[in-house]
Amino acid sequence: MKKHLSVLFLLLSCLVVLSACSIGSQDEVSKDKTYKVGIDVTYPPFEYKDGDTYKGIDIDLIKAIAKDQGFKIKFEAMDFSGIIPALQANQLDVAIAGMSITPERKKVVTFSDPYFKAGLILVVKKDENKIKSVDDLKGKKVAVKKGTTGAKYATDNADKLGITVTQFNDSPAMFQEVKNGNAAALIEDYPVISYANKQQNLGLKLVGDRLNGDNYGIAVLKGENEELMKKINKGLANLKENGEYDKIVDTYLK
Ligand code: GLN
Repeated sequence: MKKHLSVLFLLLSCLVVLSACSIGSQDEVSKDKTYKVGIDVTYPPFEYKDGDTYKGIDIDLIKAIAKDQGFKIKFEAMDFSGIIPALQANQLDVAIAGMSITPERKKVVTFSDPYFKAGLILVVKKDENKIKSVDDLKGKKVAVKKGTTGAKYATDNADKLGITVTQFNDSPAMFQEVKNGNAAALIEDYPVISYANKQQNLGLKLVGDRLNGDNYGIAVLKGENEELMKKINKGLANLKENGEYDKIVDTYLK
């Protein structure tokens, strides 16, 4: 009887150890797994579609990180506002989308080390001369993109500034609204709008000082893929050190 009990005990301990191992391994980075990376392809120079291929700083950066650290990735393009919900629904493993590191988002995601300094800026039509800063917006309509830091800035300050906020699913639709004169201004990330305005001849202009100093980070869901995040940070540091990070940025911002 005693012998039987000790065998049983042994078996049970094995089981406990085994299950503990398998729980641990769920977060381990697998070479065979293909990690799904959420992107917002309305966001050049960080991410955009060129024919059938995805291009941009974020695209090249995450590809280079994956190569450096030996994991496989696959891109999933979606509206920016859908990206954090998709991480929460486990439909994505990673997000890189010109996403600003914010305290609210930090409650649900883990961000990488910052990889780009951006910040919000006010944008009006080229021939608009009265609006020189957010203080000149009283009674005006302001276009923003859903789920962004620009949308948060506008809605948080709507009463104070006396503005009406209209929300769009993507950046081009928001630019169009101001170009058409349907909205007096928009709020967008500085590097994105200055690039688009030049490249696409949007007929818009950037006014005033940057409204904040956001930094972009790569995200995973908090408590998931934390091992992968360690690799992402390691890869990012390697690319910064070996000059590849600068090469990627220069490819798009020269
Ligand atoms: N940087 C902004 C944010 O994080 C906008 C990102 C985007 O539109 N892709 O909210």
